[in-house]
Amino acid sequence: MNIENYIRDIQDFPKKGIAFKDITPLLNSPEATNACLDLLVSQLENQKIDKVVGVESRGFFFGILLAQRLNVGFIPVRKPNKLPFETISASYELEYGTDTLEIHIDAIQPGDKVLIHDDVLATGGTAKAVCELVEQLGGEIVQVNFLMELTFLNGKEKLSGKSVFSALVY
Ligand code: IMP
Repeated sequence: MNIENYIRDIQDFPKKGIAFKDITPLLNSPEATNACLDLLVSQLENQKIDKVVGVESRGFFFGILLAQRLNVGFIPVRKPNKLPFETISASYELEYGTDTLEIHIDAIQPGDKVLIHDDVLATGGTAKAVCELVEQLGGEIVQVNFLMELTFLNGKEKLSGKSVFSALVY
């Protein structure tokens, strides 16, 4: 099973000049989805995980599946004003402007071992902000994993000191 065959490049989406990695063919194949989950879980090497944090919105798909596989709770990190309970937030720089992410204040207990998941590691700004949220609540980050890493954007540099794994590397 070659997972790469289930990712397609969409040129000029969402803007001209960007080649967007589309995971919908992967989601549309139960076999490929399972193979991808197997790979991600194998990299955790039986380390204890208490919570899986998934990032809106494409990080929700595999985030939930990972949490179910590991038999632990799933926690959504969302864009501003989507979560109904009290939140904390972290902001990060975009090419133009900033963006903000939020998490419920009671989602993680101090000392919880946390796996963070998102679909793509690009510049790393998103994942770094999510790490800040988890650590602010006292969570211990066991690993940050992705379906794909776009190495030419050097996102890993923003996650120095963290264990990072990507199922596919471009
Ligand atoms: P970063 O903050 O620059 O690392 O961007 C990562 C975020 O952008 C992730 O939440 C991804 O969902 C999204 N993203 C960036 N590039 C792509 C892509 O090619 N396909 C799908 N999502 C992407």
